[in-house]
Amino acid sequence: MTKTQRSLQIRHVDGGSCNGCEQELAALTGPDYDMQQFGLDIVASPRHADALLATGPVTDTMATAVERVWDAVAAPKLRIAFGDCAAGCGVFQHAYASHGGLDDPDLVIPGCPPDPKAVIQVLRQWLKANALPS
Ligand code: SF4
Repeated sequence: MTKTQRSLQIRHVDGGSCNGCEQELAALTGPDYDMQQFGLDIVASPRHADALLATGPVTDTMATAVERVWDAVAAPKLRIAFGDCAAGCGVFQHAYASHGGLDDPDLVIPGCPPDPKAVIQVLRQWLKANALPS
């Protein structure tokens, strides 16, 4: 029997977002959506996180920061591309400084920006079905 994950602590990195995705992330932690009630939370340190969540196309100047945060999250861990830009198909996909999104995401949450209700649904479905990759 596979052991599934019961909560997910997420470290967010802005990889050059327009801030639309950050608005929805902020809404997720507010009283309307209250993602904490489902075991989902944004944490301040990668040392406290199970997952890296990137927004934006990952610009050339943020690519190193994204990888450093990923390295600082202890295994087992998850890479989440939040929004179309991080998924590599957003409006900034071909911008001159774009890295083209998050490399090798384990989970993609589409949308520009993603709808908070859909974000909670995707993350809860993932929690029900999966354990962190080792
Ligand atoms: S997916 Fe949309 S809202 Fe999110 S950073 Fe890209 S352009 Fe902005």
